[in-house]
Amino acid sequence: MGYDLIDAFDFPEDVDDWLECPDCSLKPKVWIFDNGRFTGCGCGSRYDHPGAQAESIMSCWRRGGQYDSDALRKNWNHWVNTREHLWKYGRTNVINTPLSGG
Ligand SMILES: [Zn+2]
Repeated sequence: MGYDLIDAFDFPEDVDDWLECPDCSLKPKVWIFDNGRFTGCGCGSRYDHPGAQAESIMSCWRRGGQYDSDALRKNWNHWVNTREHLWKYGRTNVINTPLSGG
């Protein structure tokens, strides 16, 4: 199994600090842009894959919050360990709010 991602995904600089996907054993690539942050590994399809998400720069700015550049890595590693998301699009705008509480 290999990566099947759009070209925007690339390995993070601190890739050693990211856990391997429990399903495909690949380190995640990341896509960070103004409106969102996503991980991509070997799972799923090119346009629909599991993994972690993190709040965007724009979302942080709109709510007057602090942008955490490390949030995506935290969310990914948490998801690998627990299969639960710390944060997910459409649930809440606040990082670290449990999915069940959204
Ligand atoms: Zn995977």
